[in-house]
Amino acid sequence: MTAPLSNTKPDLVPTYLLSAALFFILLFVSRLPLVKEYTLYVLYLCFSVFFLFAIYLSVIHSPDMRATILLGAFCIVPFSFIDRPARINLFVAFWFGVHTVSAFHLKPQYALDDTINCLCFAILGCYIGNMTMWIRLEGYEAQRLLTIEKETDVLTGLYNRRKLFETLANFEAANAETPSGILMIDIDHFKEYNDRYGHAAGDKCLSRLGDMFLKFSQNLRLQFYRYGGEEFLAMAYGYNREELLSIAESLRIAAQDLHQKDTPATISIGVAYCGDEQVRNYENIIDRADKAVYAAKRLGRNQVFIVQNEEQTD
Ligand code: GH3
Ligand code: MG
Ligand code: MG
Repeated sequence: MTAPLSNTKPDLVPTYLLSAALFFILLFVSRLPLVKEYTLYVLYLCFSVFFLFAIYLSVIHSPDMRATILLGAFCIVPFSFIDRPARINLFVAFWFGVHTVSAFHLKPQYALDDTINCLCFAILGCYIGNMTMWIRLEGYEAQRLLTIEKETDVLTGLYNRRKLFETLANFEAANAETPSGILMIDIDHFKEYNDRYGHAAGDKCLSRLGDMFLKFSQNLRLQFYRYGGEEFLAMAYGYNREELLSIAESLRIAAQDLHQKDTPATISIGVAYCGDEQVRNYENIIDRADKAVYAAKRLGRNQVFIVQNEEQTD
């Protein structure tokens, strides 16, 4: 873009250096939080500067030549970012209008040529740009659906075990948010339930329980995973010991009410509270929660049992 500003090759060196500096400045600016928040506005602003510069080159700097860099701008801009096609097309049409009007005023001898050339490039740019954008969007959507499919348990709609391993691995990152407690949930006498009401009813029970857990996760800072056949795990974020106990109790009562009528089923919940404790391995906390479920089962099922750490139980 800067090449037309220099007459000789050595003259080009400072302009190339300036371009390189501008590139790095833009790179730096693009990482500022404010710019990240208003990315689209900043992009439209940058491309407006690009168009203004290309129009300046066409009608003021070299009015005795047909526009060239401007053609590139019409081609490149619709490819460069993702927004509503109508808005991008309108943006391109606006700058096409600005150039056409100024060309007829300032370089009438080439105005018609420029208008035809710019129109062809703008139409081509917008057409291919819009098409490419749809292909990219479809790719992102396919990727998003694939990720959901990969992380979700089909029967319950909750996160699956693969996602649990991924979450555990992410806890190792320095600034990762870690849970203050883990709940292990197990359906009581589910084998009997299957034997009595049939496997299909068992599946329905799991699925209804999954829906109920999802509702809880919408209102509370809880993330549910299907840990095994009829075992679920919940990561709880930011709750203290008493709050955790009360959440577990609400879950237990909600499950009891859910299956009250013709097909009763209850759950036992083991709670492992870690609070601000420095946890190196969350699998140990899961183990604690697991032991707590067994304690709840031993105490008669349909109960919540909490363990604070290896030594302390109550
Ligand atoms: P407890 O109260 O001690 O937990 O008894 P339980 O019968 O629930 O425990 P157990 O581990 O012996 O049995 C779990 C049962 O869960 C056995 C299996 O048939 C059933 N189950 C596991 N996954 C599924 C599933 O996807 N669908 C159905 N319908 N049943 C399942
Ligand atoms: Mg079990
Ligand atoms: Mg069970």
